[in-house]
Amino acid sequence: MRTRRLISALFLIALSANAAVQSPEQYFGFRIGSDKKLVRWDKIVEYMQAVANGTDRVKFRNLGPTTNGNPFILLEISSAENLRNLDKLKNLERKLYFQDGAPTDAERDEIFRSGKAVVFITNNIHSTEIGASQMVLELVHNLATSDSPTVKKVLDNVILLLVPSLNPDGQIIVTDWYNKTLGTPSEASPLPFLYHHYTGHDNNRDMYLFSQKESQMAAQVLWHEWFPSIWLDEHQQGTSGPRIFTMPATDPINPNVDPLIYRLNGVFGQSQAAALEAEGKTGIIFNSTYTNFWQGAMAWAGWWHNQVGLLTEVASARIATPTMQQKADPSRAASTSTPASGGRGAATGPAAGATDFESERRRAFERPDDPLPAPRDITPRTEYPRPWLGGRWTLRDIVDYELIATNALLETAADGRETARTCSTRSTASTATPSRRARRAKSARTRTRRSRSSFPPTPSTIPTKPSNWWISS
Ligand SMILES: [Zn+2]
Repeated sequence: MRTRRLISALFLIALSANAAVQSPEQYFGFRIGSDKKLVRWDKIVEYMQAVANGTDRVKFRNLGPTTNGNPFILLEISSAENLRNLDKLKNLERKLYFQDGAPTDAERDEIFRSGKAVVFITNNIHSTEIGASQMVLELVHNLATSDSPTVKKVLDNVILLLVPSLNPDGQIIVTDWYNKTLGTPSEASPLPFLYHHYTGHDNNRDMYLFSQKESQMAAQVLWHEWFPSIWLDEHQQGTSGPRIFTMPATDPINPNVDPLIYRLNGVFGQSQAAALEAEGKTGIIFNSTYTNFWQGAMAWAGWWHNQVGLLTEVASARIATPTMQQKADPSRAASTSTPASGGRGAATGPAAGATDFESERRRAFERPDDPLPAPRDITPRTEYPRPWLGGRWTLRDIVDYELIATNALLETAADGRETARTCSTRSTASTATPSRRARRAKSARTRTRRSRSSFPPTPSTIPTKPSNWWISS
């Protein structure tokens, strides 16, 4: 009898623990990504805190106030056992990146045997690209509650460092403006003010200067504390072209980046693209629009630290308002389109001239509810095997694409834990606070390398045409 009572009590405790991790839909009263519904930053923080309180798989950290005094949060997500040993695992990762000296062979073996794939995922730095700040709610709930073999594999092999928004102040500004204009003629109109107090859109150009609190907090995680091997930054692009860009990006490459970084960009980016294709999604492109040369954007700053920086760019809705686009006729593919390098936000591929761009801008401003012109880049090809042909596009679509791409990256990182880690052991790149021993080791390696190859590059090896470098991501 006593045993039965004990079992009942334990069962009730287990039940209440599960009940403590409500799904986002239960918590907010609507499905994430529903038309015209956004979760504001303060509620996102509240939910993440509630999840962390209800599970031993998520650690909630507030890294400090943002520029406008809001919480800037980091979630550390892994198996309960890994989180119990977090300091030890962090030290292994730091050693992998030459902190306190290059690892000995024995230490290296230990890192590869016991260490985890440390994956940093940042979201929503451009605040109007708001889908990722919503997507993370379902991502975290799933990782916190699912007992599927895939989630278990990910939790056992990966430590996910998740920043739900790199610009929480902007998330609030965008959400409030959207809600204020909802149902009026100004619904989903452009913001009449900056979404970062000092830098606006160009908060994604601060990873060399660190002039803003948000960049400093990200840098603290990246190059002082954790040294993640993989870093994905999730963005949105224009409304009418491909549905998602995944790595690799376009030529030219930058000769100062280790070739292995570009190879692993391909491995991880293509695992995301393949997962999306497998789910039957359309409009998945790589080798387009975004350059492998430019060093200004957030996650690509990791390349110079031998971290595999990755970008995804999902097509935008009008914040949380769906867009409609006329359908293209696929039978006209070969004759009407040219393979794209297409401009950001342009209605069409590269064939679109200034006139097309201007008329589309005018249409979007004067008649935002009219359907967009049909996509013109509809030729199936290696980097774009199943083009987007038009139709309805919603915030939920953005959430779905981002969830698939994010989960695919986590699973590939879990499967290829050692693959990703090899890039840091080849390091000639600097880390933030190398010890004297590490600096000696690095300079010895650099000397060896220079004697073997034409490094640094001679002028003849520097690409002369950094196409698209101005396109913002
Ligand atoms: Zn962006």
